[in-house]
Amino acid sequence: MLAGLFLYQGFKERLMDDLDKVLLEIADETNEKWRKKRGVTWEDAIQMAEAKYSSHEPFIQLVQLAEHREQQVERIIRSERIPEGTFQLETHLYYRADKSDLDSLVFTTVREEHLSSYPLRFFLLPVRGPNVLQVGVSVENVTGSLNQLMIVMVVAGVMLLLLASLGGSLIIRKALQPVKSVVQTANEITTEDLSLRIDVKNRQDEIGALVKTFNDMIARLEKSVNKIRQFSGDVSHELRTPLTIIRGEIEVLLRKKRTEEEYMKTLKSALEESSRMEKIIDDLLFLSRVEALDKSKFNKTVQLKEIVASVVKIRNQSAVNKGLTLLAEKVKPARVKGNKELLERMITNVIDNAIRYTPSGGRIEVLLAEIQNAIRLEIRDTGIGIPDELLPHIFDRFYVVDKSRSRETGGAGLGLSIVKWIADNHGAEIEVQSKENQGTTFIIHFPSV
Ligand code: ADP
Repeated sequence: MLAGLFLYQGFKERLMDDLDKVLLEIADETNEKWRKKRGVTWEDAIQMAEAKYSSHEPFIQLVQLAEHREQQVERIIRSERIPEGTFQLETHLYYRADKSDLDSLVFTTVREEHLSSYPLRFFLLPVRGPNVLQVGVSVENVTGSLNQLMIVMVVAGVMLLLLASLGGSLIIRKALQPVKSVVQTANEITTEDLSLRIDVKNRQDEIGALVKTFNDMIARLEKSVNKIRQFSGDVSHELRTPLTIIRGEIEVLLRKKRTEEEYMKTLKSALEESSRMEKIIDDLLFLSRVEALDKSKFNKTVQLKEIVASVVKIRNQSAVNKGLTLLAEKVKPARVKGNKELLERMITNVIDNAIRYTPSGGRIEVLLAEIQNAIRLEIRDTGIGIPDELLPHIFDRFYVVDKSRSRETGGAGLGLSIVKWIADNHGAEIEVQSKENQGTTFIIHFPSV
């Protein structure tokens, strides 16, 4: 737009300059004709110049100024094309022209309705006398060219605008195409089917990065949803088993009249199974409660030694009942950042397992120390141990090494997954060393405060 305006203005100035040059040329030519040829009157000179520049249809007249009576025109010698009373400027302009030098030649544009439907461009050239030669040419050509330029510019501008908006919308449509397919795929994705991915076609741009992020997010969601599905399947299964056992045993019991001893045995078994169910439900409730906990609650400085001492004190009786020795002699002060209740639960679960999987006469030892800016909590037992190949699975939810053994001891396979969750949320790492029939050692490494 601005460029168009500059172009138009530049072109107009150029055309006016050209016109002024023509005016100067005609005036010079007229003057020369009169000056150089003897016997040529001003009338002749004007006629000759008009003939020579007929294509420009110039108007030429000589204005003779009064030498003594200032500001009055003495006489005008005009071309036959100029009717009387027209083509005359204000007198002072002639006098100004007469006095002017070449640098301040007088050009002016005036509307002369009797002579031309377009304004006339005038030029006044001082010649010998004191006379002024007045030449005028219609600006018709200039205006015509400018109008043409204007039309070309408007048409080109409109076309450019159309092309730009067309091109712009095409580019935008092409650029947004992948976004459309993202939207389409996103609409098709439900929790029922998280296997869909958007085709990136190896795009390296921002859209490619966006699609990749989206695909990665869906992959993570798919993994989580599958985990949840697996988990709820496992939960139903684990809760169903004790129920099936209770129901089966009662059904068998009710088939005929039984001795008191038989009733007692079945009731005892039903009690065991229902405590197992209670333990599973307790563990599940604990997991869902802590998973929803605000993690900022895990940030208090706590003395691990006190927690270990209190757990050992509480669990000592069940160890003694089983004929085990529970030792906590090498427990040094060590502070960690975390949640007291959760840390208590973690240590309880590991000690409970040690009691559960160590036969009578065995020994369980708890050690706590701070070594080189790391805190090491060890729980050693002289129990049945865990086979090497099964070690990587013991932290999985509902994983039990030996179903019948866990059933006897009341385990449901959630204890260690809780331990792992608590360790992960305290920046701690768990190491397990175990030898079958010799014993197991759980080492928990905490970052020190
Ligand atoms: P459970 O409730 O069955 O004890 P856990 O998640 O606590 O479940 O442990 C998973 C499995 O790891 C157990 O079934 C058990 O076989 C094994 N395990 C855990 N701790 C010990 C240990 N101290 N000694 C031997 N085996 C262990």
